[in-house]
Amino acid sequence: MKTLVVTIGGSCVKIMQIHNPSKKAELLYFSMILIHEEVEHYTLKQGYQWLKPDGDKVRWYPWMLNSWIIPRHTFLCWLVAQQRLLTQDRLRRMGIIQHNCCFLCGLEEESHEHLFFGCIYSKMCLQLVKDWCMCPLPDADCIKWWIEWRHTSAYRKKIVAVIMESLMSQLWHCRNLSRLDGLIWRPNVLCSKVKHDVVMRLGQCDIKSRNSRVIGWVNYLTTA
Ligand SMILES: [Zn+2]
Repeated sequence: MKTLVVTIGGSCVKIMQIHNPSKKAELLYFSMILIHEEVEHYTLKQGYQWLKPDGDKVRWYPWMLNSWIIPRHTFLCWLVAQQRLLTQDRLRRMGIIQHNCCFLCGLEEESHEHLFFGCIYSKMCLQLVKDWCMCPLPDADCIKWWIEWRHTSAYRKKIVAVIMESLMSQLWHCRNLSRLDGLIWRPNVLCSKVKHDVVMRLGQCDIKSRNSRVIGWVNYLTTA
C-alpha cells in the first residue's frame, strides 16, 4: 500500500491510497481521477480516449473480427495477422530451439509465410478448399490478397473470411498434431474438417443477402 499525493497547480487536492502502483488497472484508475480534476466537464468518452493508445489502424481488423467468424478461430487468426504465433523461426530467434524444420512438409524452415501458404502441404489444402468453395483465391500472397480484396459484396467477403480462418486454424491444429504426436492428416481430411466448420457456421449465421448469386453460393457450400 502506498500513498500518492496528486497535486494540480501546486496545491494538494487529493491523497490516494494505491495498493500497488505497478498494477495497470490501478494506474488507469489513478489517471482517470487526474482527468476528472483537470477538465471542467468530465465525460467517460474523454476518459476513454485519453486512456486509449493511439495505435496504427490495421486493414485486417474488419475481416479478422467480423461476427460470422467462428470465435475460437478469431484469436489464432489475429495472431497470424500480427505474425505472433510461436513458429519455429521465432523460437529459434529466442534461443529456445536450435533447429527449424516445418512439421508439415519437413522440407523447409517453418515461418508464418511458409505455413500460410508457402508450404507444399498447406498449398495442397488450399487448392482443395479453393476447388470446393469456387472462390478465386490466388496461390501466392493469399492472405494479403484476401485482406485487400475490395471488388466484391460484403456477404461474400464475410463468407470467405469464415473459410480462410477455418483453413488457417485447421492447418495450425494439424501442425501441432504433427509436432506432438507425429501425425499428419491427409489434405482431403483437413479439407473435410474445414467444410464441416464452414457449413456449421453458415447454418448459424443470419444471411439476408438479396443477391441471388450469393444465396446460390451459400446453398452450394452448405449442400456440396
Ligand atoms: Zn512445410
